[in-house]
Amino acid sequence: MSGSAWTPSSWKSKHAAQAVNYPDEQHLARVLAKINALPPLVTPSEIERLRFQLAAVQRNEAFLLHAGDCAESFDACTQQNISAKIGLILSFSLILIWGGRLPVVRVGRIAGQYAKPRSSGTERIGDKEVLSFRGDNVNGLDPNDRTPDPERLLSAYFHSAATLNYVRGLLTSGFASLHHPRDWSLSHVRSPALRSEFEKITEGLSDALDFSRTIGVGSGRESATFERGGGRGALGEVDFYTSHEGLMLDYEQAMTREFPLAGLTAGSQEKGYYNTSAHFLWVGDRTRQLDGAHIEYFRGIRNPIGIKVGPTLGNEELTALLQIVNPDKEPGRVTLITRYGAGKIQDHLPGHIQAVRDSGHPVVWVCDPMHGNTLTSGTGLKTRNFGTIISELTSCISIHASCGSRLGGVSLEFTGELNDEGFSVTECLGGSMALSEEQLGLRYQSFCDPRLNFEQSLDVAFLVSNYFKD
Ligand code: PEP
Ligand code: MN
Repeated sequence: MSGSAWTPSSWKSKHAAQAVNYPDEQHLARVLAKINALPPLVTPSEIERLRFQLAAVQRNEAFLLHAGDCAESFDACTQQNISAKIGLILSFSLILIWGGRLPVVRVGRIAGQYAKPRSSGTERIGDKEVLSFRGDNVNGLDPNDRTPDPERLLSAYFHSAATLNYVRGLLTSGFASLHHPRDWSLSHVRSPALRSEFEKITEGLSDALDFSRTIGVGSGRESATFERGGGRGALGEVDFYTSHEGLMLDYEQAMTREFPLAGLTAGSQEKGYYNTSAHFLWVGDRTRQLDGAHIEYFRGIRNPIGIKVGPTLGNEELTALLQIVNPDKEPGRVTLITRYGAGKIQDHLPGHIQAVRDSGHPVVWVCDPMHGNTLTSGTGLKTRNFGTIISELTSCISIHASCGSRLGGVSLEFTGELNDEGFSVTECLGGSMALSEEQLGLRYQSFCDPRLNFEQSLDVAFLVSNYFKD
C-alpha cells in the first residue's frame, strides 16, 4: 500500500474521506492551476527549522504550543484579530517559558485553517435540508451559499497570504519582542489576580533579559542549543510557525513543490516535496484511515506532521500509521495530538504510549483537551467545560509520567479576540471568570468549535507552567 511510488497526486487513487463535490470540475482545475503557479507562503528552510525544533521537543528540550481558532474565517482576517491572536500565543508561551525554563515552539492554527470536517454532509436549517458548512474555503456559512465554489480556494490562498504577511510584520517590528510584553498582553487581562500574576512574570522576565543583555548573552532569544545554525527565528525575533488541518487535498497538492532538501550540505542533489502552504499540517481524527487519501498524501511531504489520535484508534493501527508516514523513524517528523475526552483518556492513552514505545517510533506527544470534550449547553450552544478540559490535561500529564513518557505540548482552541467594548468571547464554561451557562450567549462568536477566551487561556497556561516548575 505505502510501498508504491508517491507523487503529489498519488492520493487521488485512494478514497478521500470528507471529499467535497464541485459542480464544475473544469472550474476547479483552472483555480488549482492558478494556485499552483502562485508563490510559496512558507519556505523549505523554515519548514526544516520547525522539524529540527520538534526533535528538540521530543528530547524534552522544548515545549510545543499549538493553538488558535477551530476555523478561521475570511471576515475575521483583520488587524485586531490577528494581533490579538499573536498576543495571546505570546502571552501563553511566556508563562510556559517562565514556569518550565524551556524554549517554547509556537505553532498557530492560523494563515490557512479554513476547512472543516463535518460529521454529516447535510444539516437541517429551519425546514430546509442544506449542505453542511465546510469552512470558508469551500462554501458559505449562509445557508443559501452552500454550493462548493472553487474560487474560495483561491480566496483562502490570498487570505492566508495577507494573514501571514501581517504576522511576519508584527514579529519583525518589535511587537513580539519578549522585552516588551506589555505591548501585546496586559490590556486584555481584566481579572486582578491574573493580572498581578502575569505582571510578576513579565517584570521578572524583563529583569532577566536586561541582565543577560548586560552580560552579553545573546539578544534575549532562547537557548542556543535550540537554534539550527544560529540566525533569526522562522518569522523574526521570536519563532512562530503556521499550521492547518490538511483536509482539502486538491489545495494541498497545488501548494506542494519540489525543492532541494533545505539545510543539507552544499552540493547535495537530494530533493524533497514541501507543502508550502504552512509549516506544519495535521491529519484529522476523521481522515486518518490507513488506506485513505489523506495518509497517502501526508506520507510524501517533508513537513513535520500531526496526527489526531482519538478513542477509536487501535494500538496496532496507530503503529501502522507511524510506519507509513515515518518509515525511517526520523525525529521531529510526527507529532501525535491526543484527544480522547476526560472520561476516556485513561482507557486509551497508556496503551497508545506502550504501543508507540514498542514500535521504536520517535514521536512528540501533545494533548488536545478540547475535541473530546465538546457538549451542547442547555440553551443549545456548542460548548466545553473548563473543568473538563483541565481534567483531560492533568490526566494526560500524569498518565505520561506514570508510563515513563512525557507530554511535549498542548493543542488548544483559544482566541484573544475582543468585542467592540473590549470584552472577551464567552464560548467555554467556567475558568477563573466562572462563566455560567446563562452567560454563554453574551459574546458567542465562534462559528465552529467553542474557544477558550483570553482569561481562560491564561488559566490553562498557569496550570501547565506550574506543573513544569515542580
Ligand atoms: C480540530 O482540530 O478542529 C478538529 C476537527 O479536530 P479532530 O480532527 O481531532 O476532531
Ligand atoms: Mn475544532
